[in-house]
Amino acid sequence: MSDLPLLSWALVLAALVIGILAGHFGWGKRWPPSLSKLHPDYLTGLDYLVTEQPDRALDMFLKLMDANAETIETHFALGSLYRRRGEVERAIRIHQNLLARKELAPQHREQALLALAQDYLRAGVLDRAEGLFQQVSEVPRLRASALDSLRGVYERQHDWQQALGIYRQLARIKAAPARAVAAHYLCEMASLAMERGDFESARHWLRDAQSEASPFPRAALLSAQIALKLVGAAERDAILAELVAQTELRDFGELKRLVFAAIAADLGDAAPLRTSIEKVFSQDATLQAVWKEGPKQSARIAQEIGALLAQAEKYRCNECGFSGRNFYWHCPACHSWDTFEAYAIVKLR
Ligand SMILES: [Zn+2]
Repeated sequence: MSDLPLLSWALVLAALVIGILAGHFGWGKRWPPSLSKLHPDYLTGLDYLVTEQPDRALDMFLKLMDANAETIETHFALGSLYRRRGEVERAIRIHQNLLARKELAPQHREQALLALAQDYLRAGVLDRAEGLFQQVSEVPRLRASALDSLRGVYERQHDWQQALGIYRQLARIKAAPARAVAAHYLCEMASLAMERGDFESARHWLRDAQSEASPFPRAALLSAQIALKLVGAAERDAILAELVAQTELRDFGELKRLVFAAIAADLGDAAPLRTSIEKVFSQDATLQAVWKEGPKQSARIAQEIGALLAQAEKYRCNECGFSGRNFYWHCPACHSWDTFEAYAIVKLR
């Protein structure tokens, strides 16, 4: 993220310079200005920039550059560039500097509030981000963008109920992401309910999840766990058999995800998953050998494979590249859903 192409920097700096010049001399009046008429502070700012003192350069530019209609986009571009580079404090300074200007037009004020909220979100100051996104979501033209970011705030707080509420608001204005996202929120709520021993609520939310997206392996796996706990293995296996049948109609990636998610959910020894596990493991020489070693002891083998997997560095987010040992439905780094893939099942040492 911090390696934005040099070109972006060059473009923004060029825009900044043009903005400052335009602000000082007025478009088309005495353009181009002669260098001798440049404000000395501007040259000092350039000095700071070339001597790599970006904060001083920024101070100078902010002081020089009026936030008028011609230059406002440059402020926003610079702020967003800083944020994307992870230099959030600088982004915050730019947006606060804009907001401090009394003459700022209302639509620019709203845009600056939205940008500041995004800075806070990036910085992890979630309560401030939440308040600002709520405020901006009242502005019709920015509503979809503010609500979608607010959804992100609640995701990071693991407040799934609120995230789902915002999802529903987005759906009403036809700006919601895929329905699988809502199904994941419901599965998160169901998992928490299961941890509390509240299986009634968990089942209710899992039914809702499956009405959002079907087939939805995560919900089926959770249902299978509940069935095993409350009814028995036969009920669990019925659910899993149906899930496997549905998944096999889809692509191999889905089957792979199902197998690893099932193992992570401690369901690896269930009979209906056996063929699928074999199919997936046949891609990996080590696992295949372990698996074939004792077909009659599938429970033990599944356990051993579980232990092997626990030591392997094996999952990667195909959205941002984050990798680790655990299977996640929700990437802890980029917060995407359903992006985890098994890539190196076992590292040979
Ligand atoms: Zn990711």
